[in-house]
Amino acid sequence: AIHQMEHSQKLSSIGRLAAGVAHEINNPLAIINEKAGLMRDIMELRPDFPEKDKFSKQIESILRSVDRCRGITHRMLGFAKRMDVKIEILDLNAVLEETLGFLEREAQYRNVELKRELSKNLPSIATDHGQIQQVFLNILNNALAAVPDGGRIVLSSWNVDDHYVAISIEDNGCGMSEETAKNMFEPFFTTKKEKGTGLGMSITYGIVKRLGGEIKVKSKLNEGTTMTILLPKHPVEG
Ligand code: ADP
Repeated sequence: AIHQMEHSQKLSSIGRLAAGVAHEINNPLAIINEKAGLMRDIMELRPDFPEKDKFSKQIESILRSVDRCRGITHRMLGFAKRMDVKIEILDLNAVLEETLGFLEREAQYRNVELKRELSKNLPSIATDHGQIQQVFLNILNNALAAVPDGGRIVLSSWNVDDHYVAISIEDNGCGMSEETAKNMFEPFFTTKKEKGTGLGMSITYGIVKRLGGEIKVKSKLNEGTTMTILLPKHPVEG
């Protein structure tokens, strides 16, 4: 439990760090924007300014780069904001179906079966829609990346007890070595080289923990992986 706490703390500190950096960068960006704009105005006001075209192009390029940086800081702040929890009463089967909708085309194209074994009387639970969807999407994306063409992903849901419901996502993909399974929740850990960010599972872990749930992994190299998420039916104090 201590190890897990350290982990979710690490994750929320990444969120805070991202928001902090984004916020701090906005001030010098505003100054660069203002000064570059001023330089352009001064130039425009002087008909005799030497090599006006050349300078004007350089300044436009500075201003465009500033805009790009602003886009990045804006997205980073949005990311941190999404980490705030909004609780609603939700049918997890429906959220899972909704998420599958994003992947159905790729699954169909690669002939991957998405098999549903969902409980018909799964109780609705009080949880965060956007965050649960993110969790499902991250796990499903990894499952889809792990299976070969013609592979299979099995989605199950069931009522555990008075306090929890469970969702599991099982794939018959490449599986993980013990070493990979041990590190998969670490921020920036990836076995996908430049194709991976190593953030999906650490974000997933952070969300599930914040919602008062548990996440379990069973994996065997060359056989497949099962990720099981337990979620509380009622919101937990956090
Ligand atoms: P990324 O997918 O960008 O690498 P993640 O944090 O989502 O980052 O996953 C970390 C690592 O965990 C992956 O690189 C992969 O090695 C392993 N992993 C996650 N899910 C699976 C899966 N279903 N099957 C095999 N390996 C997986």
